[in-house]
Amino acid sequence: MIKRRWFRRKPEVDCREVGRVLQSYLDHNVEADFAGRIASHLEECKKCGLEARTYTKIKHSLGETRPEVDPEAIERLRSFGNELTED
Ligand SMILES: [Zn+2]
Repeated sequence: MIKRRWFRRKPEVDCREVGRVLQSYLDHNVEADFAGRIASHLEECKKCGLEARTYTKIKHSLGETRPEVDPEAIERLRSFGNELTED
């Protein structure tokens, strides 16, 4: 859990800070008031908002895709390769 100790001194988060904690933020791993600042920055800042969406997409696609290799496909490729190399 990331805590933001300088929270009171510097109320606004900047792009650098958002970039640094973005992954933790998307994993819901930052404290609530800090997360709120990040969320409003992501709404206002096109660059960071896009970055957040990209991360979210990657995260989702990683979670949904199970890397499965079809053994039959490998076998077909292998015999195809053998045919090519056979004289
Ligand atoms: Zn930004």
